[in-house]
Amino acid sequence: MAIDDWFSASYGEARAKFLAAAQAAGADLTSYPHPLKGPDGGDLALDLAYLGPPDAAKVLVTASATHGVEGFCGSGCQVGFLEDALHGGLPGDMAVMHVHAHNPHGFAHERRVTEDNVDLNRNFVDFSAPLPENSAYDEVHPWLVPDDWDGPARQAADAAIEAFIDAHGMFAFQAAVSGGQHGHPDGLFFGGQAPTWSRQAIERLAREHLRGRSHVALIDFHTGLGPRGFGELISVDAPGGPEHLRTVAWYGDEVRIPGSGDSVSAKVNGTIETGYHALLENTESTTIAIEFGTLPPEEVLQALRADNWLYLHGDVASPVGREIKRQVRAAFYGEDSQWNDDVWQRGLDIARKTVKGLSES
Ligand SMILES: [Zn+2]
Repeated sequence: MAIDDWFSASYGEARAKFLAAAQAAGADLTSYPHPLKGPDGGDLALDLAYLGPPDAAKVLVTASATHGVEGFCGSGCQVGFLEDALHGGLPGDMAVMHVHAHNPHGFAHERRVTEDNVDLNRNFVDFSAPLPENSAYDEVHPWLVPDDWDGPARQAADAAIEAFIDAHGMFAFQAAVSGGQHGHPDGLFFGGQAPTWSRQAIERLAREHLRGRSHVALIDFHTGLGPRGFGELISVDAPGGPEHLRTVAWYGDEVRIPGSGDSVSAKVNGTIETGYHALLENTESTTIAIEFGTLPPEEVLQALRADNWLYLHGDVASPVGREIKRQVRAAFYGEDSQWNDDVWQRGLDIARKTVKGLSES
């Protein structure tokens, strides 16, 4: 099978390829059905493919579609890992678990967020405590979500954003927008006011499949930031702490820390990685995100604004709706052979480094 064939044009196709490859590889399959349907009426689920001894002390976990539409990237790599037999020849105390679609609703509907407009990668906060505040987001929120996508309201919003960037710089704007916020359910990078279905499904998979191991390593696939086709490695762990030092030992000094100035990502709260660490409290856990570039940051942000406007005010089936969906997809899926190949080669290299790191731990 050619590399391009591992990648898909829809969630339904991606899921079918993943399940078929997992079955052919002899994986144990578990599915957590999602209560809603895809835009084509098809089923949605978080699917797990487990390969290796059931009681393996060490487990390599790969995850796709934390950010819905970004799942085309991770799913393609997961099908590749199954076909290419990443699980072959592992040490006897190690297993691999591929988690297909952390956020299946967002993947199927080609949105970055969950069914409740929540950024799953900001949803792993402690909801019993006061939620993190983001006053910089409060300032830019009205400009991000104008009532009209064309006309004076939009022009005024764009002018205000431009003035903010002129005054504070692009990275400050990105940090304000993407850091995560819990006060505007109709806004961007909304971390939610309760655990989403996807977070609860991840808590369940950690409970049912990962607890009691000695070491779990997570590779979480993302897209939309950085140079096209390049995969930046991002660690959200405290710099200098044992988890962060392990990622540097395994992957080298190219590991980046969000918000440090040398990463494509701003500092964020409530990430998947912190979620996995918390769920696996008596297990050593090593987590990394790979962030693959697609389009320039201004275009990606425009796509997110457009998508949010469409969600609040628009009609997906209208001409403007279809154009926005095309824009969103291009912002999070490179979808050409060169991009697919770059993603695969990088993903495979990082997966092999993870196996090596786990085996030596
Ligand atoms: Zn992402």
